[in-house]
Amino acid sequence: SPDSFDAVVIGAGAAGLFCAGVAGQLGARVLLVDHAEKVAEKIRISGGGRCNFTNRDLDPRAPHKHFLGANPQFCRSALARYTPADFIALATRHGIPFHEKHKGQLFGDRSSDDFIRMLLAECGAGGVTHWQPCAVHDIAATGDGYALQTSRGPVQAGAVVIATGGLSIPKIGATDFGYRVAQKFGLRLAPPRPALVPLTFDGEDWAPFAQLAGLALPVRIEVGEKKERMAFDEDLLFTHRGLSGPAVLQISSYWREGQPLRIDLAPGVGLADALAQAKLRSRKLLANELAQWVPARLADAWVQQDAAWQRPVNEAGDKALQHLAQRLARWELVPTGTEGYRKAEVTAGGVDTRELSSQTMESRQPGLYFIGEVVDVTGWLGGYNFQWAWASGYACAQALAAR
Ligand code: FAD
Repeated sequence: SPDSFDAVVIGAGAAGLFCAGVAGQLGARVLLVDHAEKVAEKIRISGGGRCNFTNRDLDPRAPHKHFLGANPQFCRSALARYTPADFIALATRHGIPFHEKHKGQLFGDRSSDDFIRMLLAECGAGGVTHWQPCAVHDIAATGDGYALQTSRGPVQAGAVVIATGGLSIPKIGATDFGYRVAQKFGLRLAPPRPALVPLTFDGEDWAPFAQLAGLALPVRIEVGEKKERMAFDEDLLFTHRGLSGPAVLQISSYWREGQPLRIDLAPGVGLADALAQAKLRSRKLLANELAQWVPARLADAWVQQDAAWQRPVNEAGDKALQHLAQRLARWELVPTGTEGYRKAEVTAGGVDTRELSSQTMESRQPGLYFIGEVVDVTGWLGGYNFQWAWASGYACAQALAAR
């Protein structure tokens, strides 16, 4: 006869590992399966190998500040019931040293492996059965639960939790499994798209900037109009194919095809005045003057766009200087695309939150739950996506134990 469990959690990533451990410790008999050879590869590579595991600035009462999706309020309840402080307490209990980096971002001092070991230990403490690698070939509703066909044989369970994540980084095991399960049970999807992803540019307009690969500078970046407008003050990085860095990763989640970005390359500098002053006192080339306020490589590339900018500042026309200041403070450019799932940190879109309970993550299909990135909840760069994985996993685990 098939192995029997209270719940099968599919996907041993951030959300699945955490959910399985908590549910097990609350008394549920849990099976955790994952098709990949190695456990939680995405945690391992996260945060440059150090895992930016949460963010202190997260405000569960205002989730729209750091999360996007068709209904940003959906994540409110779960985020309020399992907070960054809760996860910090868990890491502290496990003796994991960590530090704050930038804007509330918490990273491990040593390596992401600390967090993977912690989550596995929590599963151990919950008596979780862990099969990996193990593929799931089929899930069928049986009336009082589910029958699964796996590469390790048939399994029966009262509940199934889908924690298979999004489409980002297919190389380490990402699949559309979760979306297919949702569709099989008639649940709607918000179309998935790459997010927190570098943007690409090409064509003649981009030619002067292609040589800047590797250059980073602080900018203010914007997209959208009026109520839809989003802006970030972060670092911009020029790459061989376009733009990246935290500024672009953040804005990419809000960017839609065809929309222009607006970038202030010298935020907080009042360039028009600064250049007018320079004209009165200097005979240096305009590019050399500019290099006080933006990196010299950028200044050199920038003046190549207009012959009127390639002369000593005292010989430059007032109009040319104003135009230069304006363009640098409001560089408008339309990305040709994104680097796609190969480079995206997350997948925006996913299982439509109208199909899920915000209290339990259970779907309209009784006993079928969705947690983590597979849901249409996407966090900003900076630990917000892991906090969503922990919080949604926790809400689901409570519900599993109460069944
Ligand atoms: P995942 O952690 O992706 O886990 C999904 C699991 O499901 C995987 O183990 C996969 O093998 C398994 N799976 C997939 N398909 C199947 C299938 N068909 N059958 C069985 N198993 C399957 N977020 C942060 O908050 N901070 C960071 O520092 C950070 N850094 C990142 C760096 C990179 C390079 C990337 C790509 C992402 C980063 N993220 C970060 C995002 C974060 O990793 C994800 O949002 C988070 O891991 C989502 O958790 P999850 O459990 O939903 O999915």
